[in-house]
Amino acid sequence: MLETKATSQGQTGKFTEEQLSWLKKAKDFARRVSLSEVMASDRENVFRRDLFEAACKEGMGALPFPPTYGGSGGDYLSFALLNEEFGRTCMPVMSSLGVHVLCQEPIYRFGTEEQKQKYLVPAASGKYLGAFGLTEPNAGSDTAAIETTAKLEGDHYILNGTKTFITSGASADFYIVMAKLLEPGAESKKGNITSFIVERGFEGFAIGQKFDMLGMRGYSTCEIVFNDCRVPQANLLGAHGEGRKVALSSLAKGRITIAAQSIGWAQGALDACTETLRRYYLDGLTSADAAGQALALGNLAVLTESARVLTYQAARLVDAGEASVTLAAMAKTQATDVAMRVATEAISLIGIDGLKPDILIERIFRDAKAGQIYEGTNQIQRMLIARDLLK
Ligand SMILES: Cc1cc2nc3c(=O)[nH]c(=O)nc-3n(C[C@H](O)[C@H](O)[C@H](O)COP(=O)(O)OP(=O)(O)OC[C@H]3O[C@@H](n4cnc5c(N)ncnc54)[C@H](O)[C@@H]3O)c2cc1C
Repeated sequence: MLETKATSQGQTGKFTEEQLSWLKKAKDFARRVSLSEVMASDRENVFRRDLFEAACKEGMGALPFPPTYGGSGGDYLSFALLNEEFGRTCMPVMSSLGVHVLCQEPIYRFGTEEQKQKYLVPAASGKYLGAFGLTEPNAGSDTAAIETTAKLEGDHYILNGTKTFITSGASADFYIVMAKLLEPGAESKKGNITSFIVERGFEGFAIGQKFDMLGMRGYSTCEIVFNDCRVPQANLLGAHGEGRKVALSSLAKGRITIAAQSIGWAQGALDACTETLRRYYLDGLTSADAAGQALALGNLAVLTESARVLTYQAARLVDAGEASVTLAAMAKTQATDVAMRVATEAISLIGIDGLKPDILIERIFRDAKAGQIYEGTNQIQRMLIARDLLK
């Protein structure tokens, strides 16, 4: 694996001993995963549960949650540093770990003590893997349009509907699911969005179509289907009608995670591009060529660092107890756009070698495209930012 010079420590402010120790842990972990393993998880579209469990054993599965629930009690900037490193070099564990933490957040914030003990503790150890079920075939950006329904019958909620593009969907043990809660006896499908914790083994739960996507492969992304799925009353998460609040509260932090992964992608593409151009220079490029290449490379470094500053700032605000949804949206938008641009231009700069899988840029290029779409498209993020400005 290539080592980077423009590391996060080098350019962007000071870090605590604890933050640096998490970064070291992530780098050590990533070093043990070979390039051929990283390539195989993508090519074969296979989820590496073993790597996920190994990461959890090292305390990464619940890094920002308190030890009471098995967590490591770390701060959000440490989690961002870890995600950045995994985005740069260790993709097979990156997205599932990010979503896993995304799923613990609503249980930690809205769950009962019983739910916390039942789900957070095994999630921290890696025994349970979490997934997040919001998107539906007819409800992506417009979350209010979801059609999955829930009805209380006796001591169970009965869920019906389909969720799509669910990361870790085919491998998870529990799912945070948003559904419209119908009044008993209601004929219409109008209802207030409510959250539930659904286990893979619940009656009426099924894995649907699996996706063979352009990017973000190797994360068991698929549909999940509820066919009169029986969810015990004890698995209601938050109050009736609080589903959007539950979902959106965790997505704000999730967007910082995505931003951190994306600066890892940008850095990974930049590292590989730098390394290749260095070889070209050694092979004797003319000075005119070299000047053009250097200008373009310098610009990619500026872009990467600017996205990093925004991302760390958003994470630091979370740690200061002043989390900003708007700043998280800015970081996600900027970092994913920068990752896409750096990967694209890095391929152009390198030429044909940039399309070979052995320097990872082409994987980053495909993954970064998905990054601009999931957890809220960048167009939607820009609208949220504008709405905040105009209010
Ligand atoms: C790799 C991957 C993993 C994912 N993992 C998960 C997961 O784990 N859980 C989950 O619930 N979902 C997941 N998703 C789904 C993801 O969150 C949605 O794709 C995303 O919210 C966008 O929804 P959509 O694709 O239906 O696009 P749409 O909402 O149909 O949007 C299509 C286009 O229209 C634009 N648009 C939509 N509405 C407006 C508007 N009002 N104004 C202006 N433009 C608009 C959008 O920006 C976009 O360009 C994943 C997606 C991907 C690609």
